[in-house]
Amino acid sequence: MKITIAHLYPELLNLYGDRGNIISLKKRLEWRGIEAEVKEYSITDNIDFENIDIVFVGGGSDREQLLVCNRLKEIKDDFAKYVENNGVVVAICGGYQLLGHYYKMQDETIEGLDILNIYTESGKGRLISNVVVKSDFLDRPIVGFENHGGRTYIGSHKPLGKAIYGNGNNGRDGFEGVVYKNVIGTYLHGPLLPKNPHLCDYIIEKALQNKDENFILQSLDDEIEMNANEYVVNRFHD
Ligand code: GLN
Repeated sequence: MKITIAHLYPELLNLYGDRGNIISLKKRLEWRGIEAEVKEYSITDNIDFENIDIVFVGGGSDREQLLVCNRLKEIKDDFAKYVENNGVVVAICGGYQLLGHYYKMQDETIEGLDILNIYTESGKGRLISNVVVKSDFLDRPIVGFENHGGRTYIGSHKPLGKAIYGNGNNGRDGFEGVVYKNVIGTYLHGPLLPKNPHLCDYIIEKALQNKDENFILQSLDDEIEMNANEYVVNRFHD
């Protein structure tokens, strides 16, 4: 079996070590003897969604998001079809905001992909913090770091989890991120997946089960990673 990971626009959307997420996905597949190919797509490339198993979209500055948004209009239909067919997507911060209807800034509005029924508006000051999230589909908390000006409102969508430390989506409702079908959107950088191997495996398993519904991922020795995760959980609490 082979998993193809599409990294969208790494030349623009690449904040706070987001590339580490790609390395984590690839390595954790390879450590189990599963071939993994990473395809980097620049803003002018065509994306063959039919041959992709995981789409990764990282975070970016407002300026970079504006540059990407024009291109997104062109791939909107293919991307939406991929998501509705249970394609796996991991979108971080700026990338997460772009999955929604729009990101309204002070003077300009960035149009999103409309894949999720969410929207983002810039607020007063940036939300910068370490974050600990309790998710109902993972047995251990998710840890990470947020730095965003946008506040995201996810309406009736299911959140990734409850922010037990940090601000999360908007600093108001106590939730962080979103989960829709096999899409995970989150404000957490860090990078996210090396810090949270349990979440990385959740994502990998979804991609493998799209190819073979009975696929069960064998576990790896994550003692060191989970000790680090636990250290962060114990360090940041109210
Ligand atoms: N530019 C967006 C914001 O500030 C996203 C930032 C990011 O990706 N870290 O809200």
